[in-house]
Amino acid sequence: MRARNADGPLAVHAPLALFPSPYPRECYDLALQLQPHFNNLVDRIARDSAFLDQVMARLEGVDEFTWRLFGIYRRVRANPSAQPVWMGFHRSDYMLHKPTSDSPGVLQQVEINTISSAFPSLSTRVSELHAHLSDRTQFFNASSSSTPDIHRSALPANNPLAGIAKALGTAWTLYGAPSSVVLMVVQPGEHNVYDQRWIEYKLFDTFGAKLIRKTLAEIAAEAKHVGDSRKLFIGETEIAVVYFRSGYAPGDHPTESEWTARLVIEESYAVKCPPVAYQLAGTKKMQQVIAAPGVLEKFVDSPEIAALLRSSFTGLYPLDESAEGVAAYERALESPRNFVMKPQREGGGNNVYGDEIRAKLLELSPEERKAFILMDVIQPPPFKNALVRRGSVVTADVVSELGIYGAYVTDGATVHVNEAAGHLLRTKTSDSNEGGVAAGFAVLDSPFLV
Ligand code: ADP
Ligand code: MG
Ligand code: MG
Repeated sequence: MRARNADGPLAVHAPLALFPSPYPRECYDLALQLQPHFNNLVDRIARDSAFLDQVMARLEGVDEFTWRLFGIYRRVRANPSAQPVWMGFHRSDYMLHKPTSDSPGVLQQVEINTISSAFPSLSTRVSELHAHLSDRTQFFNASSSSTPDIHRSALPANNPLAGIAKALGTAWTLYGAPSSVVLMVVQPGEHNVYDQRWIEYKLFDTFGAKLIRKTLAEIAAEAKHVGDSRKLFIGETEIAVVYFRSGYAPGDHPTESEWTARLVIEESYAVKCPPVAYQLAGTKKMQQVIAAPGVLEKFVDSPEIAALLRSSFTGLYPLDESAEGVAAYERALESPRNFVMKPQREGGGNNVYGDEIRAKLLELSPEERKAFILMDVIQPPPFKNALVRRGSVVTADVVSELGIYGAYVTDGATVHVNEAAGHLLRTKTSDSNEGGVAAGFAVLDSPFLV
């Protein structure tokens, strides 16, 4: 990653685990199996405008950021782009719920990310690193006497970098203008720049498609619509696909300009990854509503697949004035350590845990509470690993969170790409609540299957 301090080194390595971490093969396989179905689910939800209206109405006046995204969605619905191709690059994140050493581990979804799912490149590199180390060394049994030996054959193949390049390249090809480019929307002063650059190079090497990078502020200043179909141009360059690596947080929209850029993109003929409707389908409020009895089932044709998806859901509750919301509020006041309280935010560092939930609930008005959802706490099993940060190694008790990337490209009639596109394992010390790598809590890791 790019260093923050200009006086120091110009780059620092991303934090990583020295050894791969144990993960039950069955749960890993299940997570892979679920992914194409989650990809379809996001698409189905995003195309149900009455349902989006109904869910987003619950955030009116309580979550300004999500409400504004919904405003863009409604503007575009009234004036839709003629572009039929939609692209998603999702990441569904899970932890293993294993509260005691003899309970069976159950795969439980933490959340699904539908915008700016990070680390496809660095995750690919970490898997290569662990495979290389396993080939080069008498790997190990060094992480802990309680973990089994790590064998090369237990390290699953992993190439989300190829997955994102394939999805972007397919969308670019479907757009059908050889001189057009992919636009990556980035944050100003981006630190995670290497994760992004490899995507640029892989896309070019595989498809011959060029990629340019711009911030939302730059797009507001430079982008224009051309022609009746509202083709998106930056200067003389036609944009085929807009790939968001920004735009998931209020801080990405500090002024009206960034919101203008969002609207210009969304109304244009370019393919969006993601369309704003996918972003709304990935909110925590949506996750909670979908988990209510019978709701998921409306969006999944096969009862078997619906049951499989549902098997990964843990308890999710509203914090509104419904009977269920009031009951959840009371349970959380009584036993806050059983829950995590989440606002409609992304990027890590926003949730409320344990005893702080009680204080937070008591501080908020009933109206303010509606901006949050409540979730059962997932308890992953701790093990030992060595974490490397800025060149220093620390051995610690750790837990892992598995993310599965989902690549999806559809033109509304034909689904051109629908894949589980590899994994990301993030590992953090077991005493830390949050799990983001960029947010400074976790390290990049890879699984060895047991
Ligand atoms: P964000 O969109 O900000 O990444 P998440 O829902 O992924 O939000 O929550 C951030 C982190 O909080 C996760 O990476 C995980 O470490 C922890 N977390 C979230 N939900 C739970 C849960 N139900 N049980 C235990 N930890 C959780
Ligand atoms: Mg998220
Ligand atoms: Mg997350």
